[in-house]
Amino acid sequence: MSLVVAKFGGTSVANFDAMSRCADIVLNNEACHLVVVSASSGVTNLLVELTQATVNDERRLQLLKQIAQIQYEILDCLTRPQDVAAQLDSLLSRISALSEALVLNRSKAIMDELLSMGEQCSSLLFAAVLRERGASSSSFDVRQVMLTDSHFGRAEPQIGEIAERAQQWLAPLLVNQIIVTQGFIGADSEGRTTTLGRGGSDYSAALLAEALRAEAVEIWTDVAGIYTTDPRLAPNARPINEISFSEAAEMATFGAKVLHPATILPAVRQQIQVFVGSSREPEKGGTWIRHQVENPPTFRAVAVRRDQTLLNLHSLEMLHARGFLAETFATLARHKISVDLITTSEVNVSLTLDKTGSDSSGQGLLNEALLQELSQHCRVRVEDGLALVAIIGNRIASTAGICKRVFEVLEPHNVRMICQGASPHNLCVLVSESEAAQVVKSLHQNLFEEGL
Ligand code: ASP
Ligand code: MG
Repeated sequence: MSLVVAKFGGTSVANFDAMSRCADIVLNNEACHLVVVSASSGVTNLLVELTQATVNDERRLQLLKQIAQIQYEILDCLTRPQDVAAQLDSLLSRISALSEALVLNRSKAIMDELLSMGEQCSSLLFAAVLRERGASSSSFDVRQVMLTDSHFGRAEPQIGEIAERAQQWLAPLLVNQIIVTQGFIGADSEGRTTTLGRGGSDYSAALLAEALRAEAVEIWTDVAGIYTTDPRLAPNARPINEISFSEAAEMATFGAKVLHPATILPAVRQQIQVFVGSSREPEKGGTWIRHQVENPPTFRAVAVRRDQTLLNLHSLEMLHARGFLAETFATLARHKISVDLITTSEVNVSLTLDKTGSDSSGQGLLNEALLQELSQHCRVRVEDGLALVAIIGNRIASTAGICKRVFEVLEPHNVRMICQGASPHNLCVLVSESEAAQVVKSLHQNLFEEGL
């Protein structure tokens, strides 16, 4: 049986009408037997606020009301709301109970269970929408298969075990039903609920597709695929029909928000094609991400990633020494921080930190303990207010004249850091946040709009 996994993001399942459009997409594709949903738009943000220590009782009740309202508005549009009303009520009571429990005990496990409730509600309701359209469909608790470690807020999926469990528990259900399940959430080996980090639903869909050896994963969102840059920054941005995994990986990492960066990994491992499109306008088509594409161009896209932190480490001990970087990276790894860009001189190392998919409750990456640990063997300086602009394409490191073109455009700007050469697919510059929009606009104009 060929299987397509469809994932619908928060805006795609924001309300009943949006869900109905998604139901059309699912029902129009015979191979689509597994649906992965995000929480309805706004719900995860409300839940995140509920986890904050600063929420007082009054605000807590307000938040609970808002969440319930979003869900009930969908329920009320069903022809037979009574079929799922009791289940929805019990999920909403659980939200209330968990938020109360947090007042006494600020446990990360409780926070993750609370954050997981949005997806539990949306999957219940979306399966009901499909059933009302005549499909045989049920919701499935993804925690039965999505085994993770116990790093609450940003749990690590256990790939091998997920595949085994999905084959055993999920595959048989897909034979004659459309199963709707939750993105973003999982469970550790003790059965405690975990989350994969903000925006993690794309990743969940790709992991399930990998586990079930699906033929494709469709990521339905509110934009019609990946563009040459953010159309809000450059109105002449064009949609990209087809892009390779390597280019897409750079793009996702470097700020094209359409796809959670980790989504690419399972897809590459199993060579599963990924489609990105708009559930509002499916007829517009979207972008296919494939192993190989025809005629990869030199310049594919410009992406920007804001809110970057630059960590400058200075130490004379580095001079002709060995192991300094090893120690630094080991410290960062212990704090679960991954690094984006790095440049070095004889006595300095500068690195930017990867913030995407950071902790589900939105906590900062740089904490005092980490800075202290680093300070033990070097002088640490932190710079904020930066943005990373990445030019993504092909053969960038081996084509003459590229730097000249790029730096001509960058002439009026102060470039804080440059990274080029590590990948044939990108050239990155770090600029001040306030100049980022102009930098992207000018680069797009010069590299993509010539001859338009
Ligand atoms: N609902 C989660 C979030 O808002 C996961 C997702 O939408 O991918 O981050
Ligand atoms: Mg999302």
